[in-house]
Amino acid sequence: MDSADVGDELTKVLYTPDQLASRLKELAGEIDTEYEGKDLLLVGVLSGAVMVMADLSRALSIHCDMDWMAISSYGSGTQSSGVVRILKDLNTNISGRHVLVVEDIIDTGLTLSYLISNLRSRDPASLDIMTMFRKPEAAKSGVDVRWIGFDIPNEFVVGYGLDYDGRYRNLTSVGTLSPHVYS
Ligand code: 5GP
Ligand code: MG
Ligand code: MG
Repeated sequence: MDSADVGDELTKVLYTPDQLASRLKELAGEIDTEYEGKDLLLVGVLSGAVMVMADLSRALSIHCDMDWMAISSYGSGTQSSGVVRILKDLNTNISGRHVLVVEDIIDTGLTLSYLISNLRSRDPASLDIMTMFRKPEAAKSGVDVRWIGFDIPNEFVVGYGLDYDGRYRNLTSVGTLSPHVYS
């Protein structure tokens, strides 16, 4: 679906499909250079990173493997606690592999910081992070993110894999939700 299909459910479109694709193409060029001649494994974090993973992987000129993890944060409400449960682990042994974690959005970075320490204990040859979006809080989390699509303000966004209550993941653009959708 595109922004016309959701009408007044968005207050504004922050990024169009063209803007998302051209930023991913730029990042893919940098990632090509970094991992040229290396055995790259992309690790996508379900479910939000599905669109980024699909588009980033196809924008690369080098070969890559892909694997997925599903995690869930414990804790109440919308606040992430940083305590994470692995719902689906990797199928791949990452020892000695060059691993690039592909994320949709980093807010507090608590979930990711757990994930990174878990993956680091498996002894990869290298471990880096690419995220499509990053919010201001993330900078304080101490998680070092190598590739960032866009730094965005502290607003709740949907589309391009990002949901509100399970919806809008299949929206091709990214935007902010109208208040009437929450109520
Ligand atoms: P963190 O542990 O970094 O605070 O949580 C990141 C996760 O929170 C993301 O993977 C995503 O599921 C969710 N999240 C954070 N900000 C947003 C947002 O603006 N929109 C949506 N749809 N999800 C968000
Ligand atoms: Mg995520
Ligand atoms: Mg969500």
